[in-house]
Amino acid sequence: MRMTNSHPVMQKPADSCCDDNWAQVYIGLGSNLGDSEQVLQRACWAIAQWPSVRNLRMSNWYRSRPQGPQDQPDYVNGACCFTTHLAPRTLLAALQQLEMDLGKIKQRHWGERLVDLDVICYGQLILNTPELTLPHPMASQRDFVLVPLQDLAPDLVLPKFGSIQQCLEQLPETFLYAVADTSLCHQPDKRIELLHEKNAEAVI
Ligand code: ADP
Ligand code: MG
Repeated sequence: MRMTNSHPVMQKPADSCCDDNWAQVYIGLGSNLGDSEQVLQRACWAIAQWPSVRNLRMSNWYRSRPQGPQDQPDYVNGACCFTTHLAPRTLLAALQQLEMDLGKIKQRHWGERLVDLDVICYGQLILNTPELTLPHPMASQRDFVLVPLQDLAPDLVLPKFGSIQQCLEQLPETFLYAVADTSLCHQPDKRIELLHEKNAEAVI
């Protein structure tokens, strides 16, 4: 994975974490190709290294059946949250670049993919533009997004959709069927440390 210093996420923030420009962000992660858990962990580890990101925490990983085409492998899903001073569109562009760096190749809609990084919500922002919708329009209907969010913030209220609990009670369909990994869920800092060790050899 290569990232140059001119990339927006590599520029040092001028302000401290307490600045009003820091937003609390939730990202949904999914993968059903390759070593999915490792790919998602690498994605979180990479994001945690961005100077424009603070206090990254990760959910458990879950297994879910696919939404959309059924002739594809089951997914590993999870979520992470952090504070950032990246603007919403800059954040989306950075996540899309990271997807490419990890090896994502765009295939069919809702089809198999090595990695998918979606912005679930950006503070309380509501946005409807062709490239970015916030909160993510499908978030309230996907248990594989809501359950990981619940790990990170049980009291989270999504703009437009309401509380995670309300969304889960009104789900039209379920996809998630198992927990893939809980081993480090209550020790997010330890988990990032371990990722750091695991990825120490990787080219960044
Ligand atoms: P998929 O819908 O299968 O996740 P992509 O990851 O390629 O497919 O995303 C499709 C498009 O969705 C992207 O080009 C992006 O501009 C758009 N998009 C709109 N809102 C969001 C969001 N909240 N998070 C991520 N992508 C979004
Ligand atoms: Mg996506």
